[in-house]
Amino acid sequence: MDQYDLQSHDWLKKMYNLHEEWIPAFFGNCPLQHLDQREKTIFFGLISNVDLHLIEKNDHDSRYTIPDLKCQTQIEKDASQLFTRIVFYEIQGEMIASMMKCMSTSVVQTDELSKFSIKDLGLKAPHHTNIEVSYNKSDGSILCSCNRYVLHGTLCRHCFYVFRMLGIDEFPKKYVLTRWLKDVVSHPQT
Ligand SMILES: [Zn+2]
Repeated sequence: MDQYDLQSHDWLKKMYNLHEEWIPAFFGNCPLQHLDQREKTIFFGLISNVDLHLIEKNDHDSRYTIPDLKCQTQIEKDASQLFTRIVFYEIQGEMIASMMKCMSTSVVQTDELSKFSIKDLGLKAPHHTNIEVSYNKSDGSILCSCNRYVLHGTLCRHCFYVFRMLGIDEFPKKYVLTRWLKDVVSHPQT
């Protein structure tokens, strides 16, 4: 705190005064004054940048652990290999919901488009009806009226439902945003 001129920072002062209660969670029973420079840097990073800590953990999990595959589909396996772990679990949740909560009420096929009307039982009435998904066969683009991809950057359950109905079993690369990729998180300097 002296080094970073933070002696007057109220929250840090409070946390320091409570350090005997929470330091062991990170460093076992090693007293704060016995931490070496590297450990102090880690300590400072932990308390000053929660997002960074999450990214580091995500990076480790993404690189060195294998997630449970619950759908047992190729598209889920692709997603597990492409995305960071936190993003993969979010996508996996949508894949599961596509199987458990979605059903099509009508399908219109033309040479170029497949248009699905989908009922989503995971949404509260009256919103669970009239989800419209349009898949363009020529360029592989897909649009859903729920706008999840536009708003969150990950595909929704309605799109995964349509992929399954159309027999598309590989994760469409055009819907892989670079910022969610394992390689980007693993090498943030590039
Ligand atoms: Zn949707």
